[in-house]
Amino acid sequence: MMNCRDATSLMSEAQERPLSIAERVSLKLHVIMCSGCQNFKNQMGTLRLMTRAYAKGEASTLICKDNIEPMDKSS
Ligand SMILES: [Zn+2]
Repeated sequence: MMNCRDATSLMSEAQERPLSIAERVSLKLHVIMCSGCQNFKNQMGTLRLMTRAYAKGEASTLICKDNIEPMDKSS
């Protein structure tokens, strides 16, 4: 049974290289039983979606320009 440190480091490595079957199985088993690593996995998924959106030039849909500009004080 792998510990949380092994599990999170495997999840990071999975972004850079394909995991072996044994690694995938033991990671999956750990995540099923560990709520902390489930959260980590979900957060990593969100982060990856955001990174992908940036890479595709869709950042403007995530960060609205109007929210950054100062409010119009003339009115
Ligand atoms: Zn864990």
